[in-house]
Amino acid sequence: MRRLLLLTSLTFAGFTSFSQSPLSAKIDQKSKALEPKVIEWRRDFHKNPELGNREFKTAEKIAAHLKSLGIEVQTGVGHTGVVGLLKGGKPGPVVALRADMDGLPVTERVDVPFKSTVTTDYNGQKVGVMHACGHDTHISILMGVAEVLASMKSDLKGTVKFIFQPAEEGAPEGEEGGAKLMIKEGVLENPKVDAIFGLHINSQTEVGKIGYKPGATMAAVDFFSIDVKGKQTHGAYPWSGVDPIVTSSQIVMGLQTIVSRNLDLTKAPAVVTIGAINGGIRQNIIPEEVKMIGTIRTFDEDMHVKVHKRITEIATNIAESAGAKADVKIGILYPVTYNDIPLTEEMIGTLKDVAGKDNVKLVPAASGAEDFSFFQQKVPGFFFFLGGMPVGKDPLTASAHHTPDFYIDDSGMLLGVRSLSRLTVDYMEKKTKK
Ligand SMILES: [Zn+2]
Ligand SMILES: [Zn+2]
Repeated sequence: MRRLLLLTSLTFAGFTSFSQSPLSAKIDQKSKALEPKVIEWRRDFHKNPELGNREFKTAEKIAAHLKSLGIEVQTGVGHTGVVGLLKGGKPGPVVALRADMDGLPVTERVDVPFKSTVTTDYNGQKVGVMHACGHDTHISILMGVAEVLASMKSDLKGTVKFIFQPAEEGAPEGEEGGAKLMIKEGVLENPKVDAIFGLHINSQTEVGKIGYKPGATMAAVDFFSIDVKGKQTHGAYPWSGVDPIVTSSQIVMGLQTIVSRNLDLTKAPAVVTIGAINGGIRQNIIPEEVKMIGTIRTFDEDMHVKVHKRITEIATNIAESAGAKADVKIGILYPVTYNDIPLTEEMIGTLKDVAGKDNVKLVPAASGAEDFSFFQQKVPGFFFFLGGMPVGKDPLTASAHHTPDFYIDDSGMLLGVRSLSRLTVDYMEKKTKK
């Protein structure tokens, strides 16, 4: 997940009936009793982070824990993924809960006893590895939920599928991975999942608070590259060549007009960013070629299509006007993280009950992305944000996700365990009542 989230107070009148499972009180007690264990797990995962598709030890620890609870376990799903199946004693729906497991190539700077000192080779560079997005807390929360729900197995009205997913941040080059690969390998089938829940901890949201948004909640992401080919010449005689640097500069400026001039921003926001531009090797040589790469974020399908079309038109036409050639490639990475509206409306009462009404806030859509979106394309899903910032800290001074100073307070996880456990049993309660 790549984003900045600040809680704002909007109002959402849409939530309807709230039915609480009789297991609620037991969940709260059991979760509280488990909190020290969840913290211990989290510190261990934090100290020993592993990159996407390489979560070998992480997966081993998860599988051992699930087995110790008597949960059926499948390993090696989508490379290192672990899937646990807990069959309740009563008939009912299949609820999937998902936690992502991967760390990031970031060198930790936070001074905590469980600081990561792990290093690895990443694309030929020696880098630190860190749980700089908080996925260590997601794993630990879901291990806690598994223990809570396993303790009330005979009373559960349905089945719980625990999905521990590798490589949310993207698989290594040339490999498949993440939610998409797990789905391809059948994680949503046998038994077929009826609904899926997931959460993301947030370093800029206070512990105890929950943020959510029905509908489009995080952006769709596309990757694009533009290669601008000119004609190489001496830097002193530009008229005898075609300068791809000047042409690329015009293209970069031209791309800025897509969001500002071509999109109806009253419908949804959008972002077009050039993240790297490379060309040339020496001050007095105009090079033959410049290469640019960038990212696109959209929340609306029509806008998605329009952005693609405009990038291609702008780049190729500006290049043509300069006598150069632009080769544009656009790849679709992640779809929109879309919270099923009826499911969100149905379940928000549970979160308000668990966290306290005033601690659950509607948040604006975030321009980061989540591969949880792939699950939501297949089954109704609800994904929300959980506070991990120490109480009283100014969110504007709290370090963002994916940075060396990223910090999550352990005390935020208890609400995560309670929330996912309660969403599961309340959902089962609703579906078996009808
Ligand atoms: Zn992330
Ligand atoms: Zn993340």
